[in-house]
Amino acid sequence: MPAQQRDDFPANIKNTLAARTGHACSNPSCRALTSGPQADEQRATNIGVAAHITAAISGGPRYDRSLSQEQRAGIVNGIWLCQNCAHAIDVDQTRYSVAVLYHWKLEAEYAAHLNLGKPRSTTPNVTANLVPLETIRVVQDRRDSRWNTGSNGETPIMFVTFHGTITEVSGNAIRVVGAEILTPPVDAEMILICNNHDACRPQFLRPREVANINLTFILPSENIPPTEEIWTSSIILIDQFGNRHELPNCQFHNPFKL
Ligand SMILES: [Zn+2]
Repeated sequence: MPAQQRDDFPANIKNTLAARTGHACSNPSCRALTSGPQADEQRATNIGVAAHITAAISGGPRYDRSLSQEQRAGIVNGIWLCQNCAHAIDVDQTRYSVAVLYHWKLEAEYAAHLNLGKPRSTTPNVTANLVPLETIRVVQDRRDSRWNTGSNGETPIMFVTFHGTITEVSGNAIRVVGAEILTPPVDAEMILICNNHDACRPQFLRPREVANINLTFILPSENIPPTEEIWTSSIILIDQFGNRHELPNCQFHNPFKL
């Protein structure tokens, strides 16, 4: 019987995954640095692992048979973790689902992006950058956030859909009751907020809950920007207390411009 194929990551993908997090574990409750000096000044220690989000081999954790070998060994299927967290995710697949790991990866890379080139003294807390009021944490899923143009009868309009995950981090029930779009700064009409609950309407997030969030806006024709493929705007989420949570530099693809 032939040995089963393991679709391991090549070295360049491992190095890129490490660098994309600033060489830190992607688990938001860990964030351990994964590289440092050895006593031998010629050498460095790495305690980081390019872990598979879906397993490298049939029968492994979260294995997805629908992926090609190239996809399984591709960077999209990798997450940078410390050795402890890499072990933990593989012994509890129920807790550490594909969705949870992808959420960690997005958030870790976004935090590294925000901190890149910034002196530590001005960015003491990554969370403070993500969500100033520390009541919710939102990570955009740029693959599924999109814009496109359409019409409402004779009137051209623009549809903007934000897709991401939202985490309640304060221990209090939070409800997103509104959202604003900043570019262009107009009264975009928000037509939908959908958490991943049964109904597409604002729902309370239970403490520590992670949910999907979808926001859809319609912009009037005079505010439709030039039709580049990628459109960038900041989005403000408003909770039931009136707190405003800014999500800077959200990016939206136009699937019809590809
Ligand atoms: Zn870790």
